[in-house]
Amino acid sequence: MRAQPQASHYVGGSYLESQSGTPFDSLYPATGEVIARIVSADDAIVDAAIKSAKEGQKVWAATPPAERGRILRRTAEILREKNRELSILETLDTGKPLQETLIADAASGADCLEYYGGLAATLTGEHIELGGAFAYTKREPLGICFGIGAWNYPIQIACWKAAPALVCGNAMIFKPSEVTPLSALKLAEAFSEAGLPDGVFNVLQGFGDVGAKMVAHPDIAKVSLTGSVPTGAKVAALAGEHLKKTTLELGGKSPLIIFDDADIENAISAAINANFYSTGQICSNGTRVFVHSGIKEEFLKRLAERTKTAILGDPLDEATSIGPLVSRQQLDKVMHYLKVGQNEGARLVCGGNAAKVDSFPDGYFVEPTVFADVSDDMTIAREEIFGPVLSVLDFDDETDVVDRANDTEFGLAAGVFTRDIQRAHRVIDRLQAGTCWINTYNLTPIEMPFGGYKKSGIGRENGHAAIDYYSQIKSVYVEMGGVEAAF
Ligand code: NAD
Repeated sequence: MRAQPQASHYVGGSYLESQSGTPFDSLYPATGEVIARIVSADDAIVDAAIKSAKEGQKVWAATPPAERGRILRRTAEILREKNRELSILETLDTGKPLQETLIADAASGADCLEYYGGLAATLTGEHIELGGAFAYTKREPLGICFGIGAWNYPIQIACWKAAPALVCGNAMIFKPSEVTPLSALKLAEAFSEAGLPDGVFNVLQGFGDVGAKMVAHPDIAKVSLTGSVPTGAKVAALAGEHLKKTTLELGGKSPLIIFDDADIENAISAAINANFYSTGQICSNGTRVFVHSGIKEEFLKRLAERTKTAILGDPLDEATSIGPLVSRQQLDKVMHYLKVGQNEGARLVCGGNAAKVDSFPDGYFVEPTVFADVSDDMTIAREEIFGPVLSVLDFDDETDVVDRANDTEFGLAAGVFTRDIQRAHRVIDRLQAGTCWINTYNLTPIEMPFGGYKKSGIGRENGHAAIDYYSQIKSVYVEMGGVEAAF
């Protein structure tokens, strides 16, 4: 199976190959086969990308916002028309089942482009009356923004960064994860087909060293990273040294709290979505499932029954509900946590092993796993695993469970299940998390701001909120009278 792009990078509206960068392979996680060989960006590619982004940004900033919006919406239509082709590519690159990629990847990227395309003509400033003078504000672009992607939602992440950046009149250079380099190139093609001026959206490939070089580059005005907390700390430190504006979307260890009056089947559906969708490789996952002790055994019994019906298999078969993990490295990491969980005394309810899948002996499959009797201090309750590993912790008291839920360095997301409306809001008010759900989990419509408290991030993506992170406000004082001076 091959998915080799025309060249590794997309700069100035065309594909471009590196002459001297480090080569690396993109693998299909279900088989370990090489599907594409990419060559990371060398200095010549970096220079070309910066030069074309500078030129493109000038043209784009002078383009009326309504026209910018039309181009974004046209790009959304192209992604929708090509959804199946793009979903297959995303499945090959990530291993996520086609059942998911058909609805959650290019499709959500299209939602994002359409949303910001719609906002384009509505981004206005303020008039401020000062008596004999007035002021007005205008929203201006930052310049060239650098986006850095993670591997779990490659095209969605590229759209979540590009759409608000572009609608504000910026250019973007985007570096996908080296693990999933392919779909961002297709997004670049779609932008060009929709009429985006050359150089406004460019794709550079490479590892963290290419990322760091770009973060430090004097012509980059802003950096937006989606990645892990350790990478976030490095990017923030480097960006801080150069006083770059920064948005960080990082990891989590989010709580999902289920009270004894909850609708149990819905709560189990949410726990499944919060731990097993995308084989558990979602930053906002509710991996600490606090279940009231009064319903714990019933909850575990039904959760185990339903988890056993998951279909692990060929990711390209639409009946498959769980695909492999993205890489051998991620499989090794998850297997390590499965061992640590058992060694530290958690009770294995189901799963716990690498999964054997017919016809895919070399795939990075792991069984969806449920641990019960997990305590707050266990490693599996404290560290982000990024795999299909669900930990159930017991609780009896509302105040106590919220304190425990907040006792983490992360603060990306949180959820609560209860039929008591006052309790739901009381608990949400106290939870330290940027995105919260009541009686559902992991829905992230583009209209809703998304981002982390504490070490889970800085800034917000999505919704109107993202506009503030991709633009700067210029205040202009206008004097209508004379100017007084001391002498
Ligand atoms: P990662 O941190 O290993 O890599 C993320 C990106 O950063 C990659 O493109 C990588 O090449 C780049 N990078 C690495 N070192 C760098 C450096 N020093 N300077 C600049 N760039 C550098 O993350 P990952 O393994 O690709 O993704 C998984 C992580 O991402 C998890 O922790 C997950 O929670 C997080 N994530 C967060 C969100 C969110 O929106 N909050 C969404 C998806 C994933």
